[in-house]
Amino acid sequence: MSYQPSPRKFRPQTFSSVVGQEAIVTTLKNALRHNRLAYAYLFCGSRGTGKTTLARLLAKAINCHHLTEEMEPCNACPSCLDMMAGKSLDILEIDGASNRGIDDMRTLNETVGYAPASCRYKIYIIDEVHMLTKEAFNALLKTLEEPPSHVKFFFATTEPHKVLPTIVSRCQRFDLNRITQELMIHKLKRITDEMNIACDEQVFSLISQLSEGSLRDGESLLDQIICSTEAPITTTQVSRVLGLVPHQVLFALDKAFEKHSLSYAFELTEELFTSGKDIAYFLDTLLEHYRTLLQLKLGKQPSLIHEREHYIASAALYSEEQCLYILDYLIEWQQQLNRIPFKRILLEMILLHLIRSKYRLSPATLVKRLMDLEQRAPSSLLHKEEVASVAQVPERAPITEARTSTITKEEKQELPAKEPVTIQQPTRPNPARYDTLLRFAAVELEGTTKKEG
Ligand SMILES: [Zn+2]
Repeated sequence: MSYQPSPRKFRPQTFSSVVGQEAIVTTLKNALRHNRLAYAYLFCGSRGTGKTTLARLLAKAINCHHLTEEMEPCNACPSCLDMMAGKSLDILEIDGASNRGIDDMRTLNETVGYAPASCRYKIYIIDEVHMLTKEAFNALLKTLEEPPSHVKFFFATTEPHKVLPTIVSRCQRFDLNRITQELMIHKLKRITDEMNIACDEQVFSLISQLSEGSLRDGESLLDQIICSTEAPITTTQVSRVLGLVPHQVLFALDKAFEKHSLSYAFELTEELFTSGKDIAYFLDTLLEHYRTLLQLKLGKQPSLIHEREHYIASAALYSEEQCLYILDYLIEWQQQLNRIPFKRILLEMILLHLIRSKYRLSPATLVKRLMDLEQRAPSSLLHKEEVASVAQVPERAPITEARTSTITKEEKQELPAKEPVTIQQPTRPNPARYDTLLRFAAVELEGTTKKEG
């Protein structure tokens, strides 16, 4: 048998093997059971979550001659077999991205009227339906308004907001979930088990992390790794095949941070450039690394973390504040990256700054330290100045009953009631004013360290 890539080879042929979309599967099965099928369905969701798979499964189930009691297609009747071999004349798959014009939809409208060749229903599956032009949508709408009873439409899209509302309102809409890491790991493990390939547990969690909820991406990555390495598959091999930054590099950076070893910034840049790593990708990896460290600092156990021991050791080297600061800093550079042509120098600078940030004082810490100092030495210079400035305020006689006749206009505003008020001479400086002053100083200092950095 010829080679088949995993996403195709392991595509679910029954509803029960669909990964991570239980609620939708239940609804569809109920519709089949009670024969309450809509004319049109819209499957929405990010790539690789199973939109087309569900559409095909539903098409197969609708036309199956011997649905099982669980409302699963039998996969043995002529209709199921034709569909699985891609030979069915009544299931028409249309790619919305390449058949997006009005003429394409007109042709479709012309064929809609013909009865199905051998199945009960003629089913049009339009993938990436959001790519259709407005005119094409309008042409399609005409058919959708009054479809012949033997026709069903299944639409799939990654961008439902681009589908005309008049189309959406005529469809039963399903929003597919992203595939969780646990479910993806389970599926990938099943694939390697079936193929009898030995694979480290951590490989699955690494792949699931990289594929960001897309099962198809995960399966394709696994394929690529299986094709290019010998079993047993390890995370080191995966890093090599996929051109990832090995975790050891990141842990070494954490150590350099701890030792304040600035020269590591140059070593690492050299290494990354020699091995042809993309700097944008490296920044993403760094972000992910510090995110994991911060999660650990905050007491959240990141699930499926590989190199757990190493990560726990690294997290101990940073404070929460430092992790947050580095994350902020990296996000800032990630956004500006494309504007700067000197990538190598930039990377060196970023890494230098990361390592140097070990001794960075945050504005909050600076304020606190200054406040502590001020409290420990109440007769400091600043204090004296404050007292002096207060003393310069012209003295006024206390407002008493005897002086009410000579109350000035300003004093009247200050005087809510008639009872005697005495203006007190401040003996301690106003803490609120100090706080503002010190904050200002801290922000100024922060600016200076940034300029130097
Ligand atoms: Zn069947």
